[in-house]
Amino acid sequence: MESILAKALEALKRYPLCDACLGRQFGLLGYGLTNAERGKAIKTLLALSAHLKAKSGDPEGLEVLVVLASNGFFRPARLLLEKLSGEAPERAANCYLCEGVLTRVGELAEKALKLLADYEFSNFLVGVELPSWVEEREDSLRAELGLEHGEGLRNELSREIGKRIMEATSKPVEFARPDVVVLVEPFSGSIRLQVNPVFVAGRYRKLVRGIPQAKWVCTACRGRGCPRCNWQGKLYPTSVSELIIEPMLEAFRGEDAAFHAAGREDVDARMLGRGRPFVVEVKRPRKREVNLRALEEEINRRAKGMVSVSGLKYADRALVRRIKSEEAEKVYEALVEFEKPVSDEELRRLEEALSGALIKQWTPTRVLHRRADKLRLKRVRELRVIERISPRVVRLRVRCDGGLYVKELITGDSGRTTPSVSELIRTGARPLELDVVDVLMEGV
Ligand SMILES: [Zn+2]
Ligand SMILES: [Zn+2]
Repeated sequence: MESILAKALEALKRYPLCDACLGRQFGLLGYGLTNAERGKAIKTLLALSAHLKAKSGDPEGLEVLVVLASNGFFRPARLLLEKLSGEAPERAANCYLCEGVLTRVGELAEKALKLLADYEFSNFLVGVELPSWVEEREDSLRAELGLEHGEGLRNELSREIGKRIMEATSKPVEFARPDVVVLVEPFSGSIRLQVNPVFVAGRYRKLVRGIPQAKWVCTACRGRGCPRCNWQGKLYPTSVSELIIEPMLEAFRGEDAAFHAAGREDVDARMLGRGRPFVVEVKRPRKREVNLRALEEEINRRAKGMVSVSGLKYADRALVRRIKSEEAEKVYEALVEFEKPVSDEELRRLEEALSGALIKQWTPTRVLHRRADKLRLKRVRELRVIERISPRVVRLRVRCDGGLYVKELITGDSGRTTPSVSELIRTGARPLELDVVDVLMEGV
């Protein structure tokens, strides 16, 4: 007790401190009090004991009252001084630590609430950025006076602003994954919102050939529009991601969106079966609570049979990381044409040789212009001939590691993929049609 008061008085003698900035230096002592209440209580006790001293003629009493009166407009100290000495000090100096910012907490919260009014959110966090001199002052004041039970100004500001936002919106503070972070610079008065994205996961099916997964920006004009791309800036009129993203942006009223998928199929391959897992990240959404069943229907209605989505559900960034890093096994169906007729016995031996085989695959010739040449080792889990169409045409089903290029598994890519269907059958083989029929990934 004595030491708290002594230290507080010492601090006040050296620097003008408002109630809250004084109380904050003892902020870790006592619960259920605001720092301003702590500070005011300490100043009150100092004033009472100063009054006692002054009455008994001790000059220190008046000195302490002068110190108190110049600290944060402390009215009782001023009144006592007027009574005891007939003199009143000038108005108090601005607080050394917060320079009065703590008196503007309500204003800052109001400003934040105006910005927040445009956004739907179920929780939030307040982040406070202080000029470096503020924290340096507070640190050195504590070191100077050996104050060990204090809280920082940044904490106090974010808590106090947060409290007011909480009262006005009834939304809780969330530290780990807030929907919105209110970024406050209290000294300049600037407030920005960091609106965190919404993630929606699902699976898509691509029911037609000839559209890419991602928007294919025209390489000649880099998207500005030129004769080659018919002034579209892109080489295909639409893409899987555009068909899915547009309705999502409208539903969530987002500013931008990113499409993340578990691998991709070629432009000329369909994506059938259960579809391919994807996550859409809608950036700066104004709405978060969206009826996903209705959104699913809307996407499918507008995609007019080119693309369909299913199983839309809310997700998080961890799922994005997972679907981008996990090389899920894939199942393909390929219509394959051989240069000469093949017998059932040859096909049976092909199934046997490739089921479980480890494939050495150099980067396919067709993508060498944009990918580094490197060797991949991928396994074919199972290969089955599921239909014979003619003596030279069969339909194959292949289940294999993610990242295996299946077209090259069929053609052999001039020996760059080995073993291959072509190599084992000892005749040219080429895929007439290729479809992905499953992506084996749990949880999406
Ligand atoms: Zn202050
Ligand atoms: Zn162009």
